[in-house]
This record gives sequence, structure tokens and C-alpha cells, in this order.
Amino acid sequence: MALRLFSKSNKVIAGMTVSDDTETDVLIIGAGPTGLVLALWLAHMGVRVRIIDKTAEPGTTSRALAVQARTLELYGQIGLAEAVVERSRAALAVNLWVTGKKRTHVAFGAMGEGISRYPYPVIFPQDEHERLLIERLSRVGVEVERSMELLDFETTHQVVAHVKKSDGSVETCRAAWIAGCDGAHSIVREALNIGFAGGTYEHIFYVADIEATGPVMNGELHVGLDKSDFLALFPLKEGGRVRLVGTVSDEALRRETLTWDDINTRVMEWIPINVVRVNWFSTYHVHHRVAEHFRKGHAFLLGDAAHIHSPVGGQGMNTGIGDAVNLAWKLAWVLHGRADKSLLDSYEPERIAFARRLVETTDQAFTAVTSSRPTARFLRLDVVPALLPPLFAFTPTRRLLYQTVSQTNVNYRESALSELHVGPVRGGDRLPWVKISNADNFAPLTALDWQVHVYGAATQELRRICSTRDLRLHIFPWRAEMARAGLRPNAAYLMRPDGYIATVQPEATAGRIGAYLDDHHIAAVGLSASRSQ
Ligand SMILES: Cc1cc2nc3c(=O)[nH]c(=O)nc-3n(C[C@H](O)[C@H](O)[C@H](O)COP(=O)(O)OP(=O)(O)OC[C@H]3O[C@@H](n4cnc5c(N)ncnc54)[C@H](O)[C@@H]3O)c2cc1C
Repeated sequence: MALRLFSKSNKVIAGMTVSDDTETDVLIIGAGPTGLVLALWLAHMGVRVRIIDKTAEPGTTSRALAVQARTLELYGQIGLAEAVVERSRAALAVNLWVTGKKRTHVAFGAMGEGISRYPYPVIFPQDEHERLLIERLSRVGVEVERSMELLDFETTHQVVAHVKKSDGSVETCRAAWIAGCDGAHSIVREALNIGFAGGTYEHIFYVADIEATGPVMNGELHVGLDKSDFLALFPLKEGGRVRLVGTVSDEALRRETLTWDDINTRVMEWIPINVVRVNWFSTYHVHHRVAEHFRKGHAFLLGDAAHIHSPVGGQGMNTGIGDAVNLAWKLAWVLHGRADKSLLDSYEPERIAFARRLVETTDQAFTAVTSSRPTARFLRLDVVPALLPPLFAFTPTRRLLYQTVSQTNVNYRESALSELHVGPVRGGDRLPWVKISNADNFAPLTALDWQVHVYGAATQELRRICSTRDLRLHIFPWRAEMARAGLRPNAAYLMRPDGYIATVQPEATAGRIGAYLDDHHIAAVGLSASRSQ
């Protein structure tokens, strides 16, 4: 399938018209959530991008439903969070049903209160989510180029890519960098010859968008468990409509083509629901795999192209968005000549470590939810429903669950970019969130620049260094909540543009922040001067 056609002018090769070269800084392959967020962040940072997708239209069926708090925080930096929240439904409670009987009701409430501005996940179907991202991208002057399929590319000191257009002609596109956001069957990954080790679950997954009535249509999450399968019901913004996601492990059903009629009766046996209309129904297999590398030379892998796993826990799309933001600011700094190319070396170690952990834990969770072994069944059907309410009532376990699922505890402590700690907060941690009257300490992060935070008072030396480096210094008067969040008075927190702490220096050595920037070959100056819009 590899096609290698090189041309500098319009001509016909092997029956295909190859058009003039086009040039950009970053060529993004795939306009799923990962590619769209990468394009959006890069555009906000004044980087020239092209984003192409082989489909003629955006997706109309939803896969991911849960948008986690960390994603909303990152969206907050580009003014997108509130639009998502307005269009979503908050997930505030879950009910567990075991073979048709309600066994447990757990109110999440604002389980992440004090940890994030977004204390619970929200439900926002992926198709609507993508439409919103496309609209925002258009506002910053970038249109998704559709019916454009990447065929092949080569990289030396730059990327030369061949893209098939809807009329069958092939365009050569030159770019400084290429980002493979092209999903599980990534051509970018294949072209780079990067392995995608892992496996495929034997279960068939199904997803259905339905209109229904009954006790489960109450705006809460419902999870049905039985001997070896599971079923989850997600409320949508419009009352009366829900999304059902489930698995079928039954050998007889797996042999045939699964239809809604095959599972309809089972659904009603598990949860009390009266289905009025099925808008769409689809089945799919789920894999658990992580790419061996997330980067080769001038090419990067992100999102499902780099890692896929079971949808249990609602992490996949959010992880792809995390990849996109991690890479976006690094590319922007390098392309604007404000950092050495070695900054890009940190993308793979920072994101692959989290992806590997995630695939492992979602695999364990999925196996626990679907295993037919007697011990697993006993745990799932008897122990978990009994244990869940007291676990949620106990603040430390509730907070830990929230931090894990919301991805607010993802950190880059092991990264070469992360240094030191003061108190419990380390270089590589997400900035602890603190509410300050009607605002919060995340507000300055909308500048998308390197900046220094001081909670308390800043030394003269720190002020001087920030001024000579053109590094914004944000001083927040000290309050008790800051100590509770793990911050320490008068320490200097050097923030990366993605809201993670690069290094934290105690008051006495706050001036060493300059040395950090020199060691990592970073010019801290904000990007505003070089932004095009
Ligand atoms: C049923 C289900 C439920 C899920 N629930 C959740 C959830 O609740 N929360 C969550 O976080 N995740 C969930 N996920 C996972 C989530 O849907 C994916 O992780 C997400 O879609 C990945 O986004 P992406 O942009 O990386 O890839 P994709 O969405 O797969 O997008 C890739 C894009 O690349 C394009 N493309 C491919 N090849 C080429 C080419 N050669 N040239 C040009 N374009 C190309 C494709 O057309 C596509 O538009 C769920 C998944 C499923 C299946």
C-alpha cells in the first residue's frame, strides 16, 4: 500500500495527478478529538497547522461520553470549558443493579470539591464534542480539510507527505512535523514501523442510543452486573434519551451478527427500562495495546494511534487530549525558536508511562467486571455493591477515586523536565487548584506561557529574574486553603504552559529558576509577541 510519489510541480505519475507542494509547520493526520485539540492548542499558540481527515463528514455516532475534570481544566486554558459544561450533563450518582434488582445507590455529589473547579465528570457525546471543537477551530482560522487521506510520508530533516484528495489526485505536503492522530489503525504508526503490542478482548461490545421510560431514566448512571457481562446506562442532556454500553461474552451470540433484538431482553432483565425507540445500535471489538514508541524523528503518535484500551472508566478520549496538550506547547516553543529541539524528547517518556499504567489498570478493571470465575463473581455481585457506599462515604477513598478517574493526579514527576519539591508538591505535578473568592489560581494559565506562581510574598531576586527573563510573576496573597492544597508560603513554582509544575524552589533559592531555564535551553518569554492573531 506504500506509495512514494515525489513531485515539485503539477504532473501525472502512475495515473495520479500530483499537485504542487504545500507547506506548513505541523501536519495533523486525523480530526478525531485528539487531532482537533492539538490543532486548537497549536493555533492558539500561533503555529501554522493543517489538519486533514479521510472522512467526508465529522462522525455522527458517539463513542466517548465522559469528559474528565483534567480535560475541562485544559479546555479552561483556551476558553472552552464552560461551553462543554453548558452542553453536558453532570454525572452525580450511580446505581448498581444485580440481575434486575437495585443493590446500591451512591451519590457522587461534588466528590472532587476542593480538588478541581470541575468536581465531577460530565457526559458529553463524542459527536457533539467534535462538532464543538471544529467550530472553535474555525473561529481561530483553521478548517478541517476533509476527504484527504494520508497515503504515505517520509521524514529526514522535514516531513514529505502524500495525501489523496477526493478527486483521486495526490498532493505533496511538506511540514516541519507530522502528528499521527489517526486512530487505532494508524497509517502514521504503520509507516514508522512502530509495534502496537497487546491483545483483543473476546467480548463483543455494543453501544445503543435509545429513547426510553422507566425508573432508570432519572438522570443518573446505572450499571447492571451479572455472571460475566456488564451494562452501563449514561444519561444524556436531553431527558428521555440515554446511551447504553455493554458487553456480550455469550458464545452463541458472538457467532452471529449481533442486533439490538439479541440483547433487548437481556437489558430488560438487568435494569427496569421500557425502550421506546432505538436511534442507532452498533457493535465493536475492544483492544488493549500501547505503541512501542510515541515518536520517531519528526513524527509523533497521539491518542488511539498510540494507545487503546477498554472504555471502562471513560479514559481513552481524555488521554488522547492529554497527549495533544503535552505535545502542543513543546512544538510551539521549538517552532517559535524559544526552546531547543531536545524539549520534544520529553513527550514520549511523559505520555507513554501514563498510557502503559492506564492500559494495565483498565485491563484489570475490565477483567474484574467481566470474569466468570467464582471468586470474581462473588466480589462483583456481593462484595462490591456492599462496599461501595462506605467507600464513598470515607473522604480519603472518595478523593483518591476522584483524582484517579478525573486524571487530576496524572503527573510527570519522572520526567527529565521535572525538578525538586517543596512540601508534598513536586516538579512534574499538576498545579494544585485553589479557589480564591470568585476566581482561582488557574486563571493566569490562560496565557499559555511559562510563568511563576508565588503564594505569599516574592523575594526581590525572584522579581528581578522574572523581569529580565520576561517571565510573568503571579503573586497570590497567602490563605489557609493553599496549605491544604500542599502549597508552601513564598516558594516559587515555575509553571509550564500546560499547567504542570516544572520546578519548585523554596524562598531562599527562588532565584535558581533562571538556572532551570538555562539548563533546559528554554527562553521563557511568552508567545504573545510571535502570535499571528
Ligand atoms: C463505545 C466506546 C465508548 C467509549 N467511551 C469513552 C469514554 O466515555 N471516555 C473516553 O475518554 N473515551 C471513550 N472511548 C474511547 C474514545 O472514543 C477514543 O479514545 C477516541 O475516539 C480517540 O480519539 P482519537 O482522535 O485519538 O482517534 P479517532 O477518534 O479514532 O480519530 C481518528 C481520525 O483519524 C482519521 N484517519 C484515520 N486514518 C487516516 C488517514 N490515513 N488520513 C486521514 N485521516 C485519517 C479518521 O477518519 C478519524 O476521524 C470510547 C470508545 C468506544 C468505542
